[in-house]
Amino acid sequence: MAEVPDWARQLVALACAEAEVAPPRITWRVAARAASSGVTRRGSGSISLVAGTDALDQRITLLHELAHWLTLPAARRRRGPTPHHDAAFYEVAFALYARHGIPAPAALQAEGTRYPSSLRHARSLSIPGADEAWRAHRARLRERARSRAPMRVLVPEHRVRLVRDGRWTRCAICGVRVVGPVLRRLRRRGGRHVLLSRA
Ligand SMILES: [Zn+2]
Ligand SMILES: [Zn+2]
Repeated sequence: MAEVPDWARQLVALACAEAEVAPPRITWRVAARAASSGVTRRGSGSISLVAGTDALDQRITLLHELAHWLTLPAARRRRGPTPHHDAAFYEVAFALYARHGIPAPAALQAEGTRYPSSLRHARSLSIPGADEAWRAHRARLRERARSRAPMRVLVPEHRVRLVRDGRWTRCAICGVRVVGPVLRRLRRRGGRHVLLSRA
């Protein structure tokens, strides 16, 4: 376990004082990777942070866990699973980021990478740049959906006819290059082809 850095101690004390909430106990570990991660446990009154090498990401991660610390008490009174990264959580989280010097683009980047649904909340909180980030995320989702589009038949099913093409062997009907075990099998037993493509 590493020593908790002074800036982290001060940040926890200030954020909790301003929210009039008793501060958690902090445990601090270091990891040889860029990104940090954290866990907040209301029951044991602690935030455990694994600090990566990126200083800004350390600060964002600590503030993210503090947002859990400040929002968990109310959530625990409910039955059922704890609402985690919901609208109420992000209202507190983005307020902490703004209050404690995290530029909006960095906060959106960190949250959007880990929890894409955060962008929707950031947008309804009118965080600068959130609308663009949300639109970009939606465009990526549409792009991914399109790449999963049903296959379209490009060349209808046919019996493979192998022909030489320089050093390669192709199917004369659809033009597909045939190599290796597939070629050996087709030579031996023949076979059928159908050429598909993404719409
Ligand atoms: Zn979280
Ligand atoms: Zn073919």
